[in-house]
Amino acid sequence: MRTITVKYQNECCLECGKTLAVGELATREKKDRIFCPECKPINNCPVKDRIKYPERHSEAEIEALLWHQLQQKGIDARLQVTAYSSKSGGNNNKLDLVVFKNKAAICIVECKSWSDSYYRVYPYRRNNSKQIVKYRETYNLPVLLCGRMDDIPKTIEDVLLM
Ligand SMILES: [Zn+2]
Repeated sequence: MRTITVKYQNECCLECGKTLAVGELATREKKDRIFCPECKPINNCPVKDRIKYPERHSEAEIEALLWHQLQQKGIDARLQVTAYSSKSGGNNNKLDLVVFKNKAAICIVECKSWSDSYYRVYPYRRNNSKQIVKYRETYNLPVLLCGRMDDIPKTIEDVLLM
């Protein structure tokens, strides 16, 4: 792949189809593949394939929606809360979401972005994952698990009971 100056008329970018003007800079790959500067391939990955539409909701989206809905119910929920880490002995643990009452933490919500298949083992995971057990021990608080978008209403119900 090399940068060239377009010499011949009627050469089109292989990616977007734009006709390249003579004298314009372009990228040539092998003999017959030419690209305009915007469509220049990176490691053979075309521009259109560099950002794929996400198949499932990210943890951040689940956290954001849960946070928003808790706020709407007047609950003091905070995201990405820095907390004590029993592992390092410092304040460098980041908790996904913490619910506070009068500025005292009352429960932790750990958010996940689980696939359908993983979700089937959820009842077990919910109570026994290493991280959940560790959080309960360290902070002496209930730890809820919100495994995906569908879990948000149930998580809110559980928070409201506290
Ligand atoms: Zn192009």
